[in-house]
Amino acid sequence: MILVDSHAHIYTKEFKEDIDDVIERAKEVGVEKIYMPNIDHESIESMLNLAQKYPGYCIPMMGLHPCSVEKDFEKQLYEVEEYLSKEPFAAVGEMGTDLYWDKTFYEQQKEAFKIQCELALKHKLPIVIHCRESIDETIELVKPFSERGLTGVFHCFTGSLDQANQIIQQGFKLGFGGVATFKNGGLESVIEKVSLEHIMLETDSPYLAPTPNRGKRNEPAYVKLVSEKIAAVLDRDVEEIGEITSRNSKNLFINP
Ligand SMILES: [Zn+2]
Repeated sequence: MILVDSHAHIYTKEFKEDIDDVIERAKEVGVEKIYMPNIDHESIESMLNLAQKYPGYCIPMMGLHPCSVEKDFEKQLYEVEEYLSKEPFAAVGEMGTDLYWDKTFYEQQKEAFKIQCELALKHKLPIVIHCRESIDETIELVKPFSERGLTGVFHCFTGSLDQANQIIQQGFKLGFGGVATFKNGGLESVIEKVSLEHIMLETDSPYLAPTPNRGKRNEPAYVKLVSEKIAAVLDRDVEEIGEITSRNSKNLFINP
């Protein structure tokens, strides 16, 4: 069984005590790589330390999360840019828009999004998009950049089939995680109709643990539960789901 966790924040305090066991459990179920999106300037050091401890296995990305976009976002993006010019990263991210938690800095979020799209184009990297309550807005935001060749993934996709198709038409992938396993997640109809070539698996650890671990701390080994759910919805072999989605992740991201 081959699996890739395309989105996990395993450098956060939630993993401080047992990160080595977490990695061991991921390897046991077949996880080949764990891609780590950055959050903001406070998370960079612990993320890079983990990447250094597990080279080629825990792979870092560089970006500014929309929920960390505040008044000082330009200063934070300057730091992101500095890192992008001196070290290799798998992608720019995570970045995006979030109208769920706080709308105060929405204009700044959009500005930070555009700046990071430019950085990704400049460094020939894909992007990892977070959008919550803002899928349509974000599809519009990314359009001029996808027309210039930018690709990436809409991580933790929870939208409709129509939105999924618009994203795919722009050359972007869909990231499916714990929500795909939730009883009321409503994603079966999307999974059934979208080609596997456009799907990547993720956990978003430590958040959004899949059923039956919903509510607990999430970890990369649980990406297997997501692959099993997709296999069940499509009535296909779980090994095949793992293989195709892992290939999609490895092809999209830059591997150091
Ligand atoms: Zn995330």
